[in-house]
Amino acid sequence: MNATFEPRLHRAAPDELAGRVIAITGAGDGIGRAVAVTCAAHGAEVVLLGRTVGKLEKVYDEIVAAGGVAPIIAPLDLEKATAHEYDAIAAAIGTRYGRLDGLLHNASLLGDLSPIEHYDVPLFTRVLHVNVTAAFALTQVLLAQLRASPDASVVFTSSSVGRRGRAYWGAYAVSKFAIEGLSQVLADELAGTTAVRVNAINPGATRTAMRRAAYPAEDPARLAMPADITAAYVFLLGPASKGMTGQSVDAQAPR
Ligand code: NAP
Repeated sequence: MNATFEPRLHRAAPDELAGRVIAITGAGDGIGRAVAVTCAAHGAEVVLLGRTVGKLEKVYDEIVAAGGVAPIIAPLDLEKATAHEYDAIAAAIGTRYGRLDGLLHNASLLGDLSPIEHYDVPLFTRVLHVNVTAAFALTQVLLAQLRASPDASVVFTSSSVGRRGRAYWGAYAVSKFAIEGLSQVLADELAGTTAVRVNAINPGATRTAMRRAAYPAEDPARLAMPADITAAYVFLLGPASKGMTGQSVDAQAPR
């Protein structure tokens, strides 16, 4: 790979993800939805993980209507999921595909924007659970399927506030720092002995419900649409990033 290459500028071949099985959390809305549709458009078989089944069904319909391979819908509420539910998803993927080639941890909870001094302790715990513990648990339970792939890629979703702390971003920022750490630890553990690579991605400011909640006064017309930022995701989830691990990339040019 060229040292100056930017994943966000990757131009994927039409069939770049053909034959790959890619699971995406939070696939029913926002960035997760756009990445799922884009991966399917490039030939992937996608596993749609999410908590709102109606949203996942719409993504399913969109993919099938566009001629993509029919996805699996896998309902999973990351706040409430039991060990049994995690195991069932791993078993379903194992039975149907025998491997997993890509895993995008995209779902997350914003929590409150408030000073640490006043941050609600139960909410802090919920945000850390959904954004970090659930991503860890899902990765752990799917590792056998990832190891079974000849070229697997795990991608964790970070944020600019997961690289430099910012006042009032509370549990969300802490969780994104933790995600960067989880990504690096796992990358280091799997490097050299497996074909599983692990990287993080910062989507950058994108027009979604979460962004609206965080910046209610912002003009959404200034923001990228989710479908505009998928190039770096396809790069990381597909063969183009083979050999790259332990990195944290940007889906958009820094503003
Ligand atoms: P979004 O449109 O609000 O989507 C968030 C997704 O997470 C939704 O599909 C939501 O499911 C899912 N989710 C939330 N809680 C869940 C739970 N308990 N169990 C399962 N799924 C759950 O937000 P987005 O902007 O696309 O965010 C995607 C990722 O990008 C997040 O990790 C976010 O932190 C990161 N990010 C976004 C921006 C931005 O500007 N948008 C910037 C930096 C980082 P439901 O649809 O069922 O609610």
